[in-house]
Amino acid sequence: MPSILVLALVLLTALMPAVQAASHHQASPSFHITHLSDTVSLLQGRGGNLAVSHGPDGVLLVDSDFADMSAALASAITSLEAGPVRYLLNTHWHGDHTGGNAALTPLPAIIAHHNVRARVSTVQQRPSRGSVIEPLPTAGWPVVTFDENLSVHFNNEEIRLRHLPGGHTDGDAIVIFSGSNVVHLGDLFFSGRFPFIDLDSGGSVEGYIDNIESLLNQLPADVTIIPGHGPLSTLDDLKTYHRMLTSTADWARQKRATGATLQQAIATGLTDEWNGWGDGFINEESWITTLYRGLPMTAPTTP
Ligand SMILES: [Zn+2]
Repeated sequence: MPSILVLALVLLTALMPAVQAASHHQASPSFHITHLSDTVSLLQGRGGNLAVSHGPDGVLLVDSDFADMSAALASAITSLEAGPVRYLLNTHWHGDHTGGNAALTPLPAIIAHHNVRARVSTVQQRPSRGSVIEPLPTAGWPVVTFDENLSVHFNNEEIRLRHLPGGHTDGDAIVIFSGSNVVHLGDLFFSGRFPFIDLDSGGSVEGYIDNIESLLNQLPADVTIIPGHGPLSTLDDLKTYHRMLTSTADWARQKRATGATLQQAIATGLTDEWNGWGDGFINEESWITTLYRGLPMTAPTTP
């Protein structure tokens, strides 16, 4: 018996460094890559979801995650074996989508809506969260900016950037990979969870819902949707999201119409149907607060 015990101890000791190395490796940040078409892939790290086009023309990237994910992003790009990033598109200005902009080498041409450049190049005040956000390093500012639409013809398809009116922020763009039938919706879509709507940055609850409605009418039924946050999604997932937005907004309007204060509305809570939607960055209390703050005080009159 003792000899078996000794053998077990020896084996355990011999295995320990390997076990420690493996767990250490898993703890370091990395990106999970999902191939969606011949040239388009989804990259999932710690911040917002990234899309990447990789092929004969090289690499085009949509969003750049947090600054501290830069080393992991560089190795994910290297693993695609299509060269460095030539174009970087930003869906909006938030740091979980632009934090890595300045760290890419060589520096790609960065493309975004005018308001993204305006916000990443200046100090941003967040009165509702009591925080202040410093500008990105100059190298991370978009150098090509647009107002409504812009196309990049790359890797045998038209990659279209389209600005939508004030929703998540005032500089939102969706990215349509027209040949691959893939679209990146930025933070206009938090799949399966309540969204963050940045009312301090020109975001709007009603604008946000209108944007989702118009997208539902325009996107093909079989489109693959990359949300800003959450899992790879379908048009049905976007329909469910739209139903959550409209029904919780109606609920908040009704609560307010009956004189319920924000605290009373939070205490009552939403219906059970939306249980689990508050498990992410925005919990149920934050979502109800956004609805109360973001919806106009008087209900729109219907003819
Ligand atoms: Zn965002």
